[in-house]
Amino acid sequence: MRLLLAEDEPSLGAQIQAALGGAGYAVDWARDGEEAWFQGDGEPYDAVVLDLGLPGLDGLQVLKRWRAAGRAMPVLVLTARGTWADKVEGLDAGADDYLAKPFRMEELLARLRSLIRRAARTVEPVLRCGPVELDPRSGRVAVGGAPVTLTSHEYRVLAYLMHHPGRVVSRGELIEHIYAQDHDRDSNTIEVFVARLRRKLGVAVIRTIRGLGYRLEEG
Ligand code: CA
Repeated sequence: MRLLLAEDEPSLGAQIQAALGGAGYAVDWARDGEEAWFQGDGEPYDAVVLDLGLPGLDGLQVLKRWRAAGRAMPVLVLTARGTWADKVEGLDAGADDYLAKPFRMEELLARLRSLIRRAARTVEPVLRCGPVELDPRSGRVAVGGAPVTLTSHEYRVLAYLMHHPGRVVSRGELIEHIYAQDHDRDSNTIEVFVARLRRKLGVAVIRTIRGLGYRLEEG
């Protein structure tokens, strides 16, 4: 899962970026409104954390432009003031949730998990496919109850597939959702990640659909 963080305060932005990275997300950090708008308009984010008080173009304008252009990714708005009027304005502009500063990082992460879950149309906090379980809260993966240790990229590939079960996901789509913007992207590495995942999971849940990509399905 790949997220866009739009936040101009360096220390808070760094804290959020570290927390999101630690939770297994690939993160792009935009430090002003123009950059946030541009990134969110062109890249397929799984969710966005959007500070309303951004230099250049404010967060509300960024959000309105995305929604007017049909960009439907889940957006969690951060507001410094936290008055009811700010929340209403944010929600009316197309935000899916909001959080008033200061907040606990745990709450931000929980709200993001909830938004991503809803976008994937799942209600269970733990994702399951046959004997494979992935818990986005802890980042733990298990097969038949036995824990499996994955690298961060293997985890991202599996998490993305598990949020889109039964659907063919192309290599290009996986690349866009597991790497941050500035990361060196190589589509051959996806095959390597999938091969390692299959070996580590030991069960056939990732099927190759020739010429198209991969599909997660129960054994
Ligand atoms: Ca700000």
